[in-house]
Amino acid sequence: MISAIASQGATRVGARQVKYRAVMPRGRPDIANTSVRIFLHEMGVAYDEERGKEPYKKPKHFQQVQDFFGNPCCYCGVEFSTTEAPVEDHLIPTNKTDLGLHAWGNIVPACRECNAKKQGGDWRDFIIERAGVDAAERHARMREFISAQGYAPKQDIGEIAGELYDEVGDIAMTLIRAKIKRVREKL
Ligand SMILES: [Zn+2]
Repeated sequence: MISAIASQGATRVGARQVKYRAVMPRGRPDIANTSVRIFLHEMGVAYDEERGKEPYKKPKHFQQVQDFFGNPCCYCGVEFSTTEAPVEDHLIPTNKTDLGLHAWGNIVPACRECNAKKQGGDWRDFIIERAGVDAAERHARMREFISAQGYAPKQDIGEIAGELYDEVGDIAMTLIRAKIKRVREKL
């Protein structure tokens, strides 16, 4: 373990420093991705407000979304019941690649299995995978939903989300290193 890290160029002063250097490369994307997710959540609130809608809030509004689809999972069609409750799924995922917003028209009712399996990627492909022969009908229903909610952000926020990702990563790492510098002599 130690020799593997040393060969990547870390200066080994003591065991603590080796551990610190090994952990950091994973931490930065975690912080940056979380910030982008929060950004897309808050952008969704702003987008709802700009469209004159009350910002989407669970559980108050989820029932309205479920009512639109009836009782089945919007992807696979399984019927919800007391043992299979629907969960909120972002139709377009809220990450820096897909850039979905937490807003009316991008939150749909899914079963737990579909929610866990969907991850990133295009919802049209996922419906084909999950709905089989019913895919065309389910695509149509989803398009009706998006259109009824008027979900179609015009502004391309990919560049801004990318900037935020880089900046938050830089700031977090600068702060973390400054804190370590402050305390390390006293260790
Ligand atoms: Zn499902």
